Amino acid sequence: MLNKFLAISVPILPKWFVELFSKSYVAGYTSKEVLTIVKSLNDQGFSTTIDILGEHVSTLDTSEKITRKYCDLYDKINQDSVDSNISVKPSHIGLDISEKIVLNNFQRLLKKAKKNSNFLRLDMESSQSTDITFKIYNKLKSTYKGTGVVLQAYLKRSIKDIENLGSQNFNARICKGIYKENSKIAFQKPEDIRANFLKMAKLMSEKKSYACYATHDQHLIDLLLDMIKKNNIDSSTFEFQVLYGVPMNGRLEKLLASGYKVRIYVPYGPDWYDYSLRRLKENPNIAGYVLKNLFSKNS
Ligand SMILES: Cc1cc2nc3c(=O)[nH]c(=O)nc-3n(C[C@H](O)[C@H](O)[C@H](O)COP(=O)(O)OP(=O)(O)OC[C@H]3O[C@@H](n4cnc5c(N)ncnc54)[C@H](O)[C@@H]3O)c2cc1C
Repeated sequence: MLNKFLAISVPILPKWFVELFSKSYVAGYTSKEVLTIVKSLNDQGFSTTIDILGEHVSTLDTSEKITRKYCDLYDKINQDSVDSNISVKPSHIGLDISEKIVLNNFQRLLKKAKKNSNFLRLDMESSQSTDITFKIYNKLKSTYKGTGVVLQAYLKRSIKDIENLGSQNFNARICKGIYKENSKIAFQKPEDIRANFLKMAKLMSEKKSYACYATHDQHLIDLLLDMIKKNNIDSSTFEFQVLYGVPMNGRLEKLLASGYKVRIYVPYGPDWYDYSLRRLKENPNIAGYVLKNLFSKNS
């Protein structure tokens, strides 16, 4: 009942409540805060990837500011000796402004990644930007190997993309995909998306590529583990990934105990509000947990 009510009322929730809720999903507002959380996740055995919240910047000035923040973050990760790489949405550093600007900003990031022996992941946005994201990725990859991209299992093209890009040097996160896409280009049924996810994971292994299985779907994780065992896939060629704060009921600790690598995607930054609203819409159960904690603390 409570969750249903929360789901309907997401758009009118007061900002103080969303902020309360955001604490479970957003790792602070500053780089200092996020690095403290990353350190604690590392201590529990998790690797991380850090994302500065935000997307679709429309001015040169903002794209410049965000690129500089990401560059500083590479230095800070190195200085603090934490186990984290960085994930960046192309539209956050200029994709909507021009191809030249976003490429130039990515090249600056890549220089920093290289200097710090770190890794850069290009997040994947809607299907309008898939081709251009792969184009940028290919250019970056030719200058530094420590670059990876994302493949969305709802897209019918993704198997072809692995066939084209798959190699020993290819590193891709596989996720279901979060944008609204039409049925011409994207599977719509959850079981079809799951089946494609598994097919992609298997093909990545056949291509000897490094795969990051990004999902909170416990049944899919079971199916992936079956596939890994059946095909004898070496655990150094894949990792599991989840979003910071999504409840996994002890599954992540079990994966770690089985010797698998688990990386947590940790978002932070002043643009926490929209991200938190999206998370609330996706899983109003979380709001229920937050309220329960709030009331049990006060009782
Ligand atoms: C590390 C990581 C990186 C990602 N990067 C991208 C990307 O670059 N591009 C892209 O399009 N998509 C990205 N996604 C999102 C992904 O595409 C899915 O939309 C999202 O993970 C939900 O799918 P699922 O596999 O978890 O399964 P689902 O069946 O959707 O969810 C399984 C369970 O987890 C819960 N759950 C799932 N997601 C959330 C959430 N965010 N908040 C609260 N509860 C949740 C659901 O309520 C459900 O109970 C990423 C996801 C992860 C984990």
